[in-house]
Amino acid sequence: MQVPAQVEYEKATSVEQALALLARYAPGARILAGGHSLIPMMKLRLAQPEVLIDINAITGLRYIQPTNGELRIGALARHADLLAAPVASEHFAILRDAERVIADPVVRQWGTIGGSLCQADPSEDLSAAFAALKGSMIIHGPDGSREVSARAFHTGPYQTVVGPDEMLTEIRLPIRLDGGSAYMKVARRIGDWPIAAAGAAVWLAGDGDRIADVGIGLTAVGATHFVAAEAEEFLRGQPANEETLARAGEIAAEHCRPGSDQRGPADYKRHLVRELTARVLRLAISRARGQAP
Ligand SMILES: Cc1cc2nc3c(=O)[nH]c(=O)nc-3n(C[C@H](O)[C@H](O)[C@H](O)COP(=O)(O)OP(=O)(O)OC[C@H]3O[C@@H](n4cnc5c(N)ncnc54)[C@H](O)[C@@H]3O)c2cc1C
Repeated sequence: MQVPAQVEYEKATSVEQALALLARYAPGARILAGGHSLIPMMKLRLAQPEVLIDINAITGLRYIQPTNGELRIGALARHADLLAAPVASEHFAILRDAERVIADPVVRQWGTIGGSLCQADPSEDLSAAFAALKGSMIIHGPDGSREVSARAFHTGPYQTVVGPDEMLTEIRLPIRLDGGSAYMKVARRIGDWPIAAAGAAVWLAGDGDRIADVGIGLTAVGATHFVAAEAEEFLRGQPANEETLARAGEIAAEHCRPGSDQRGPADYKRHLVRELTARVLRLAISRARGQAP
């Protein structure tokens, strides 16, 4: 069995202490949260930090709470916390949909939301969900904190705007009561990474027959910042009918850039994007109208 290379271990009990340790050891240090992505990467020598800074004892970073019209999710909240949180399900069905199909109960028990986002795997499900919801991330560093849009958080595969001496501390999602949202993915097996997935958040106007605003996230298909921007632009102001949703699916499929790999050929992934985009939009609209749970 492969084992990670030798590494120094430090334990932080506060954000301040974690930042001080990062300042001392960066760029050779990595934060350790649930370890479900980092430890396998270390075993494969794809990551070779000299120092691990364990943040699991910063218990104040494990929360999911509504504050000032936003849902605030601490970086150390686990997938299982998000799945179980009534406040998340009540306002963001897309998160419940996504969490139900992320990995398995063991991974969800340990894997953190912050670790998932900072790993920045192009097949990671929550990035598309947070992009659809137009959320933002709070990053702490030596110069204080900054807020970055979820749509600007990733700079490429396995890359984010979080610097080597910074850490992600919180995710914020605006709570808008007039909308509905949904997430669907196709994977080869239950609990597997997606072949392709889509998430949508829709806000309706008038009597609920027109799309006022929309966010569409795509996973594992090479969409820039996980967003189907062209389909979103097309949908704003359009009637919320089947023809419009089908066209939005076509546009999303045209503009994404899936690659062929062990999970499937590119043309199949494009087909999934077309179908899944229309389906999540349909379900999100039904939820916005109070016609679906
Ligand atoms: C078998 C398996 C199946 C999986 N299936 C899925 C799936 O279907 N869908 C899906 O989306 N994901 C899936 N995952 C990924 C899983 O969600 C992540 O491994 C997990 O959430 C990562 O969180 P962690 O706390 O374990 O991060 P860690 O492994 O501890 O860290 C990951 C990276 O993020 C950095 N980091 C962690 N926290 C912070 C922070 N607060 N600030 C800055 N940097 C930080 C670390 O330094 C490291 O580089 C799967 C994983 C496994 C093992």
